[in-house]
Amino acid sequence: MSSRLADLGVRSLEDLLFHFPLRYQDRTQTTTIGGLRDQVDAVVEAEVRAAAVTMGRRRTLLVKVEDGTGLLTLRFFHFRQSQVSQFKRGATVQLFGTPRWLGGQVEMIHPEYRIGAGADLVEAALTPVYPTASGLGQSTWRKLCSQALNLLSKNPPEDLLKQITDDDITLADAITFLHNPPPNAELGQIQQGTHPAQIRLAREELIAHQLTVQGVRDSERQHPAPAIAASSTASAAFLAGLPFEPTAAQQRVVRELAADMSQTQPMLRLVQGDVGSGKTLVAAQAALDTIAAGYQVAFMAPTELLAEQHYANLEAWFTPLKQSVAWLSGRTKGKVRQTVLNQLASGEASLVVGTHALFQEDVQFHRLGLIIVDEQHRFGVHQRLSLADKGTGDEHPHQLALTATPIPRSLAMVAYGDLDCSVIDELPPGRQPVTTTLMDHTRRDAVIKRVGAACREGRQAYWVCTAIEESDALEIEAAEATRDQLQQTLSGLRIGLVHGKLKPPEKADVMAAFKAGEIQLLVATTVIEVGVDVPNASLMIIDNAERLGLAQLHQLRGRVGRGSIDSHCLLLYRQPLSKTAQQRLKVMQDSHDGFVIAEADLDIRGPGELLGTRQTGLAAFRVALLPEHEQLLIEAQEIAGRLYESDPRRAEALMQRWAGARADFARV
Ligand code: ADP
Ligand code: MG
Repeated sequence: MSSRLADLGVRSLEDLLFHFPLRYQDRTQTTTIGGLRDQVDAVVEAEVRAAAVTMGRRRTLLVKVEDGTGLLTLRFFHFRQSQVSQFKRGATVQLFGTPRWLGGQVEMIHPEYRIGAGADLVEAALTPVYPTASGLGQSTWRKLCSQALNLLSKNPPEDLLKQITDDDITLADAITFLHNPPPNAELGQIQQGTHPAQIRLAREELIAHQLTVQGVRDSERQHPAPAIAASSTASAAFLAGLPFEPTAAQQRVVRELAADMSQTQPMLRLVQGDVGSGKTLVAAQAALDTIAAGYQVAFMAPTELLAEQHYANLEAWFTPLKQSVAWLSGRTKGKVRQTVLNQLASGEASLVVGTHALFQEDVQFHRLGLIIVDEQHRFGVHQRLSLADKGTGDEHPHQLALTATPIPRSLAMVAYGDLDCSVIDELPPGRQPVTTTLMDHTRRDAVIKRVGAACREGRQAYWVCTAIEESDALEIEAAEATRDQLQQTLSGLRIGLVHGKLKPPEKADVMAAFKAGEIQLLVATTVIEVGVDVPNASLMIIDNAERLGLAQLHQLRGRVGRGSIDSHCLLLYRQPLSKTAQQRLKVMQDSHDGFVIAEADLDIRGPGELLGTRQTGLAAFRVALLPEHEQLLIEAQEIAGRLYESDPRRAEALMQRWAGARADFARV
């Protein structure tokens, strides 16, 4: 068992104490059948009226029980014959389960149950439900935690926030409360994260987190970095070749980057800007300065397609400047790969664009001066830092992170807390707002006609296909079927197909044909989400838009509205819509502002999903909740700043206490 616990990151008594329940069940009293509320777990005591096995679509054991206030149906799909005979007519039964109303009747699926008078499903306190992984049952967790609480009461841990914050509740009491809330505890308050015990712990957790972030930043800034002067000649030649002027916001951010890079400490900067705000241009200028100073640049993107787009862009911009661009992705193999590696190690190649492949151990640079990470939120802090280690000797490169997903301030502090932030708060001139319309799937045929007509008038359109699960294979299947159907209905129209499994040259061909107007309608999977740029495309259909998250929808929609024509985005959805899907689609219809959309996203989804907990490992707080605890986070940043300098011992103890490995717990 200890090894299984260790797998979950539970190694010490403190790890156990800080392994908090996800939620609680209220088994402290019985409820009458008449008093049951939909979806609210309850203990019920009743008498068996009838039990029978039905052979419908699925073999089911149905049991009817009654308590004088109403009738309740129990439904078991997995059962043994011995269970059937247990439910004798007239027997007393105690149940714990989730009531649901179906066609005016209330039922419970697979309730826990005990037969006979004096059964004991009622408990004195609220019952904690712990996050767990297979093989460790709730009763094991409850036993371990109650032993840990025993030890805690004999030997309470140091209250590290003493004299720092004015919480009334001590650490030990707060921990005990969360593992073992008394029967009269307000479950609603706990669920909202507003109980004083949670506030006490969340505060400490957030302070510890901000201390860690500060530590990462500090240790990074201990390294020397090459001072890179802004090169006016390189910049002038580059800008002269562009068909447009940088916006004022782009120019400002370019200056902010140049100021950072002229220092002998590594730049740690994030550039935030909405889709289409022109982050690549800003990054390209920082790259040019670096190269002009004799250093190398690594430009990394999270997907192959996006990296290719950057590669194509930078090549088009830099070739006239006699500057070559190298390419390295997971698919670069054998001799080609070896050649690139040699060129990077010798310094012959000064700019490389690629994917995660750039992190790999055997990728060595001659004099790496700048790393650019696009769509930073898709990478973890550690991945960025592992690239930072590829400097020469003790020297670390400057770091520039880009993100098109504007995220609310509280989340930015969590995900990018170690970075300074610049914002491109202006879109290039001439961008048109995109009119967004929601449409029921039943009108798909009319939509197809409309798309056909628009394309014949010279417009270009995207048709984006989604899959029920996030699965490349299913998306591709959906896209192929849609392409065939559209081709049949709209014969004569030039329709293309692009998806993630196409070979890079094939994909490039399709995109080039679309850009050139040879393809009128491009059927795509969500791989076109980021980076793709075709100004003449002014119409986008997103099939089954209810399956996508807000950030993704916003990114996709950002592909249109880039030219001077009025643009439209049609979100096709299928009934029935969940409540959150309805909210999402409404937000898309009402807003174009990436920040507004991101705030709404946080409200609807919560931060774990928003950031992709797995990738960043950052949103996995044990107690703290965002955005609920945003104010605590802001205070925590301040407190952490002070502690870091004034009380390093306490700071270290706080970080240690909360640092326990954050394993992936199954959500039960
Ligand atoms: P994002 O911020 O979404 O990464 P990109 O860097 O891909 O945006 O830029 C989007 C498009 O806008 C590109 O085609 C780029 O060439 C163009 N662009 C960038 N800056 C300007 C500008 N100042 N004026 C006009 N177009 C610009
Ligand atoms: Mg971009």
